[in-house]
Amino acid sequence: MAELLETMMNVSVKTPEEIVKYSMPEDDVNGNSAHSAVETVRPRWGPNHRGAQELAQLYSKGKRVQEMLSVVLCIACMSVNIVYLFIHFESRRWVQVAISAVCGVLTADFMSGLVHWGADTWGSVDLPVVGKHFIRPFREHHIDPTSITRHDFVETNGDSFMLCLPASAWIAYTFLTAEYARVQALYPWFAFLTLLGVFVAMTNQIHKWSHTYSKLPSVVETLQRWHVILPRRHHRIHHVAPHETYFCITTGWLNYPLERIGFWGKLETVIEHYTGMKPRDDDFKWAQKRD
Ligand SMILES: [Zn+2]
Ligand SMILES: [Zn+2]
Repeated sequence: MAELLETMMNVSVKTPEEIVKYSMPEDDVNGNSAHSAVETVRPRWGPNHRGAQELAQLYSKGKRVQEMLSVVLCIACMSVNIVYLFIHFESRRWVQVAISAVCGVLTADFMSGLVHWGADTWGSVDLPVVGKHFIRPFREHHIDPTSITRHDFVETNGDSFMLCLPASAWIAYTFLTAEYARVQALYPWFAFLTLLGVFVAMTNQIHKWSHTYSKLPSVVETLQRWHVILPRRHHRIHHVAPHETYFCITTGWLNYPLERIGFWGKLETVIEHYTGMKPRDDDFKWAQKRD
């Protein structure tokens, strides 16, 4: 068991050569993205990539407002929920809370993979509303992975908080209005959903740390080293073109098992069969906008 876990945590499904050739060396800020003289003029990745610059310019004021509202409202609801979970906590509940934490972190990791895979693989920046506001950041991230390290807290985390808002608001409303017996009956669900929400809300911050190669707090580096949160070397595997694997970005624990069963590839085959859409069509198109 320990051996299997060790393998799952450290295995790379890409060779060292593939990683060097098909992904941007973010850990070497001075060498940066150019592998040859041609690439200094037509960069494959990084802030000078023309497609990345075009995508960065599409970040709008309206999008910023949506992100700020999501962060503020979600933190308010989650704070209420955490306080009420403490108020209603009874010692017999600690097993439920522990199980909720483990299930919450695993569910968050899977959901991070599903959302990330969906946005990376399907759809287009040209789609109305969704394209410019929610698919655009995923396209930008592949051709300029370091852009996330220049985004502030709101831009990094706004959409993750938005995803947590409906459930957090419902739980807060129930805590504030429901009778004691109903709250007690729903307590295991509330514990699970609140912890799941915290992990989901933290996902892109954890993802940002996995792209940050300097000045990380030592506690974050320790959590990465122990693989409690997404480690830098582990996430680098996703950034090897064509970005078709290792989509989970909360802890990354599910990446290896999902890769072993060919989960994402099988899902893509089914969707392509029924819709005729080609996986990563739009992602590839943006990668080509080099001059
Ligand atoms: Zn991606
Ligand atoms: Zn990334």
